[in-house]
Amino acid sequence: MNTTLAQALTCTQCGGELHPDEGQIFLTCPYCGAAVFIDKSRVVFHWYLAPTFDEEKARASLRRWMAGNQTVKDLDQKARIVSAAFEYFPVWYFKTQPENGPEITAIEPAAAISISELRQLKLLAGDLRKYDSSLDSQAHTPTVPLQAALDWLSQGQLPAGEVKEQALVHIPLFTFKYEFQGRTYTALVEAGTGAVFANIYPAKAEAPYMLAGGLTAAVFLCLAAFPVIGALVDGGSGASIGMFACIGAGVIAAPLLFALAAYVAAKI
Ligand SMILES: [Zn+2]
Repeated sequence: MNTTLAQALTCTQCGGELHPDEGQIFLTCPYCGAAVFIDKSRVVFHWYLAPTFDEEKARASLRRWMAGNQTVKDLDQKARIVSAAFEYFPVWYFKTQPENGPEITAIEPAAAISISELRQLKLLAGDLRKYDSSLDSQAHTPTVPLQAALDWLSQGQLPAGEVKEQALVHIPLFTFKYEFQGRTYTALVEAGTGAVFANIYPAKAEAPYMLAGGLTAAVFLCLAAFPVIGALVDGGSGASIGMFACIGAGVIAAPLLFALAAYVAAKI
């Protein structure tokens, strides 16, 4: 009998006793063939998400995101992709089903990553496959213990006490580096669905829009004051003169402001 083990490790699926080698964390159950991950004294299922995007398709997905509304205009043409790397990145996958409620799933990275947006990844249980040791060479080793992930989870997405299911999932991930105006940015493309994740990117500037909008409001407020000022200065006729001035100036100002707005929309 092995007395060095504090407690017996048992398979999540069949309950069979597991005897991993020293330091072994990825294991296939010898009784039922389940792929499991050993986190200290806990055993959880180990899945992976199969990639459906190769590098070319992932690049196309990144270009589409760059051409979208969040990023600066024409980023897809102006940015230069300088590197692409592929790996299976580990995430902790949590699931709960409140009574009479919809199923809730949550993701926490199981290794250090600069792009925290990855938490927004939606994993569908039906897409998960049993982890295969042939992926080992491309699989990033988990460094965040399950308990740490559970602690984070309870601070945000899910109360840890309500977690009904937990597993380790290796997700296929392309990490792209691209350059734009002398700076280097990072974007992730999840190769199962093509979803793009980025924390920092050349965003569409809001200041010019605010400026154009503010200027328009200021001009019309100013014009609306003409009749009031006219009335104060010279009673009824003053109000009439002010009204005419307001309409006249408004007719001149409107197309100029419209042109400014159109210019801002086209350039930014
Ligand atoms: Zn088993």
